[in-house]
Amino acid sequence: MNGNVIIIGGGPAGLMAAEVLAQAGVRVEVYDAMPSVGRKFLMAGKSGLNLTHAEAFATFVSRYGEKRDWVTPWLAAFEPETLRDWARDLGVDTFVGSSGRVFPTDMKAAPLLRAWLHRLRATGVHFHMRHRWLGWDEQGDLRFTTPTGAIKVGAGGTAARLPKSRPEEDAAPCGGSEQSERGGCLILALGGGSWAKLGSDGAWVPLLQARGVVIAPLKPANCGFEIAWSEHFRAKFAGQPVKSVVATFGGERRQGDFVITRHGVEGSLIYALAAPLRDAIASRGSATLQLDLAPGKTLERLISEIAHPRGARSMASHLQSRAGIAGVKAGLLREWAARDDYADPARLAAAIKALPLRLDAPRPLDEAISSAGGVMAVSLDDRLMLRALPGVFCAGEMLDWEAPTGGYLLTACFASGQAAGRGAIAWLQSNLSSSAAN
Ligand SMILES: Cc1cc2nc3c(=O)[nH]c(=O)nc-3n(C[C@H](O)[C@H](O)[C@H](O)COP(=O)(O)OP(=O)(O)OC[C@H]3O[C@@H](n4cnc5c(N)ncnc54)[C@H](O)[C@@H]3O)c2cc1C
Repeated sequence: MNGNVIIIGGGPAGLMAAEVLAQAGVRVEVYDAMPSVGRKFLMAGKSGLNLTHAEAFATFVSRYGEKRDWVTPWLAAFEPETLRDWARDLGVDTFVGSSGRVFPTDMKAAPLLRAWLHRLRATGVHFHMRHRWLGWDEQGDLRFTTPTGAIKVGAGGTAARLPKSRPEEDAAPCGGSEQSERGGCLILALGGGSWAKLGSDGAWVPLLQARGVVIAPLKPANCGFEIAWSEHFRAKFAGQPVKSVVATFGGERRQGDFVITRHGVEGSLIYALAAPLRDAIASRGSATLQLDLAPGKTLERLISEIAHPRGARSMASHLQSRAGIAGVKAGLLREWAARDDYADPARLAAAIKALPLRLDAPRPLDEAISSAGGVMAVSLDDRLMLRALPGVFCAGEMLDWEAPTGGYLLTACFASGQAAGRGAIAWLQSNLSSSAAN
């Protein structure tokens, strides 16, 4: 089909939109600020690329919380099983881990990205790296900075160098998008605001706000939290994992592992509860997470184990042999249990089963695995086109949804990239048929 589309942002969402469009015969130009695309995707592969999750679809979509109804149509059109087929098509087999998480067999992102880029180039997608988008100029052209200076790009993808004398700040925002009037359209897939060194820095927020797009403030999601550790605890335990504990907050209970950091805590168990913890801290100033340090033992059993005469043994070795509390778990207990609790087996057992950990603040957005907030549903139509800017679509983490880790982030990025790509095709088709009718 005729038409051309500019995509800004070469992460999973932008690349998926490029694929849908290129396969429909549309000319696609991808622009990205970084020297190469997919940097966060590659980073995700460093600790084992969790592509998606194998649980039932109804459970899968429930992970998107109150945004579930919004994301369900994209996910229904690109289900987790379809994502696995897509990876297989690129020569990457996947497996389901014991927790239901889906990974490539080699756990890595690089082979998948390499094969994908090869296929995208073969279908005619063009890449323009080191092009940082700065917004629109007064003619509606896209403004970029590149290593060789500022350029502007029209919807046809032709670049025209701005006169050197014109400082970038002079470029005034224009009244409405002209992408649509020129028979092309634009997809923004600029990511969230975390790990800015990988490319997504959230600098797009004021650019879209200035043009009437409603944006929920970017906030850390799947993030660590700050705890006022004592100097002694910090020096001894920072960097150590806490394994097989149960964390409870706001009626939600999760079992898993986390890590002690210099500033507080991070890791999968903490990320699973990060959204309610973050929101509670925002409204109440702090949040108390309850930890069960010995989930394999009932309270009654722990009480009788601790009450067992310890003879000449120290309390530390008594707790280790009777309750399995040693190392970092013993350190946590010392840090948070009251001194008097050690004199009373019932109180000490209760502290082991429900240790209150006070979290004071989420760690900064830049450190988070992902961002909450972004372009709100009210600003977009069903095709993910901005109501304020006809012909401009958005996809990926820059949209206002959030989900825990477990493959839900990448799946929604891929699926929304597909949805925006299909939306752009429908837009081009309706534009072409209306211009043919005139
Ligand atoms: C350490 C880590 C591990 C992760 N592991 C997993 C995992 O295992 N499973 C999972 O599901 N998710 C994981 N994620 C999250 C996942 O990687 C992201 O949700 C996903 O990459 C977001 O895709 P996106 O296409 O929306 O944005 P991004 O991948 O962030 O891509 C956005 C692109 O836009 C470009 N860009 C931004 N602004 C501009 C601009 N002004 N001009 C030009 N280009 C611009 C950036 O350079 C970037 O290439 C992980 C994240 C991190 C940080």
